[in-house]
Amino acid sequence: MPKKIEKIAVLTSGGDAPGMNAAIRAVVRTCAYHNVECYGVYQGYEGLIEGDFEILNARSVKGIINKGGTFLKSARSQKFRTKEGRQQAYDNLIKANIDGLVVIGGDGSFTGAMIFNQEFEFPVMGIPGTIDNDIVGTTHTLGFDTALNTVVDAIDKIRDTASSHNRLFFIEVMGRDVGHIALNTGIAGGAEEILIPEEDLGLDRLVDSLNRSRKSGKSSSIVIVAEGDKIGKNIFELKDFIDENMEGYDVRVSVLGHMQRGGAPSCFDRVLASRMGVKAVESLLEGETNYMVGLINSKMELTPLEKAIKGKTKINLELLRVSDIMST
Ligand code: ATP
Repeated sequence: MPKKIEKIAVLTSGGDAPGMNAAIRAVVRTCAYHNVECYGVYQGYEGLIEGDFEILNARSVKGIINKGGTFLKSARSQKFRTKEGRQQAYDNLIKANIDGLVVIGGDGSFTGAMIFNQEFEFPVMGIPGTIDNDIVGTTHTLGFDTALNTVVDAIDKIRDTASSHNRLFFIEVMGRDVGHIALNTGIAGGAEEILIPEEDLGLDRLVDSLNRSRKSGKSSSIVIVAEGDKIGKNIFELKDFIDENMEGYDVRVSVLGHMQRGGAPSCFDRVLASRMGVKAVESLLEGETNYMVGLINSKMELTPLEKAIKGKTKINLELLRVSDIMST
């Protein structure tokens, strides 16, 4: 029989994502609902090591469901990667009689949580918070939907100026290893081409495609480029290549960057965060540990952290085909 959980700590770690505040709120309020004390840890794992945490009650998290970022702050902790750092974190948790930990973050944060659980048998539960949607065990990570809406809004605005000046715009979006943001926003923003890490389109095909677009009567074009696309050139080199190899286009580049991580979470992300927070706390209270909560077939499900970390999300091939057809 696992020990009854009476005090739970929550932290946000790795890159921030919209919806993290809503998830913290959900964890804190679910604890309050079940009469479990809740601690908020500042600066991710760094706060565990430094003992930088405090009790949060239901009212401590008022007015944050609509706020981007994370009020607990996020950090990348080198010390937590060492045995000594994790020992310090464990000692601080034990000193405060905390007996469960909810980690809101990406795969790196989950790796840290899993190692911590293995070393000290400390109950941990993960909530996937990252805009990249690159974690197995959930169809949506927290922040993905908001980031999609932010990017589509930016594409719409850029299209206004692109079409007014007959320009070709390369727009870089986040996604070093996965193209979920690029593929979805490319379709929603009506992009002529979408370059993603999972597929090497090749420069010749890109030029062919842009030529075809122009012949079909398009006077401006948008190409969405994921940060990690495999075409072998960065977005500025792409611009230079098109300048040299295609006539008649005024080519511009827009790198959306960190604005994709900010902003008020969408309705979808607020609901998802609330559901994930409830599931994470109640799973810990039921004696579950070393899992990540996620959305599968519209239901909240648990996936072992190891599987969530090691798995690789796949691009939706149907979306690729839809994108090809739409750029006709
Ligand atoms: P994002 O996807 O936004 O980058 P992430 O959670 O993957 O988020 P990381 O920087 O990879 O972000 O990891 C966050 C923190 O998790 C690290 O700073 C470190 O403290 C901890 N961590 C990551 N990997 C390990 C590991 N192998 N051992 C111990 N701790 C780790």
